[in-house]
Formats: sequence, C-alpha cells, structure tokens
Amino acid sequence: MGRLGARIGAGVAVGLLGAGAVWAWSAGRGRGARDFPDGIRMLCVDPGCGRAFDTTLAEIARVRAEDDEAPVPCPDCAGPTVRGVVCPSCEGTYRYGGAVRDRGDEPACPLCKETLPRLTPGG
Ligand SMILES: [Zn+2]
Ligand SMILES: [Zn+2]
Repeated sequence: MGRLGARIGAGVAVGLLGAGAVWAWSAGRGRGARDFPDGIRMLCVDPGCGRAFDTTLAEIARVRAEDDEAPVPCPDCAGPTVRGVVCPSCEGTYRYGGAVRDRGDEPACPLCKETLPRLTPGG
C-alpha cells in the first residue's frame, strides 16, 4: 500500500499549499503584509471605497498575464486600483504622485500635510 500512502501524502501537501495561499492572501489584506519584501501598496480609486492594500509582483503578473491593461482589482469592491504610497507620518495611503506642495517645493502628504522625506533622488 506504499503507493496509496504516497497519494495521500501528496493530497495533504496540496491541501497545505492551499491553506498557505489563503493565509498569505488574508495576511496581505491586513497590516501584517510586511512579511512580503516585494509587497506593493495599492489604492482603490473608488472614492466610496478607498481601500488600501498590499499586493505582490506575482499577483500583478498574474493579472497582467490575463490582460495587459488590467489593473489589480480591489479586494473589497473589485474596482480598479492604482499604485499607492504609504505616508511615514500618518501611515495613511495616498495615490502615487498625489503628494501636495502646500509649503513651497517640499512634497507633503495629502492626508496629514506632513512634509515627506525625499525617497527618490531628483524625484
Ligand atoms: Zn475598492
Ligand atoms: Zn500623512
């Protein structure tokens, strides 16, 4: 019955992989997404939703494999999302490129109005 045992073992392994994928997905929905070194912050463009979440390069690649132009869908409303930036001061998420310049040339967070550190040289 060695072969049967192997098949059962494979089934258990698949089950564990599935559970791991679900865990990874649920972790990505919360604030515990720092485990993903390549985590990418996304922001839902629907003003009634505004969900901020982290996705991965793999997830973006999976979506793009089906449709080149497809945005990553929002996990809450399934609407389109854009790249988001996490403010180091308030930890809120604003749209990439959405920094405001209320105080001269220094870019500031549109949420808390704190001046942002320059992360990209010349940016
Ligand atoms: Zn949404
Ligand atoms: Zn802020």
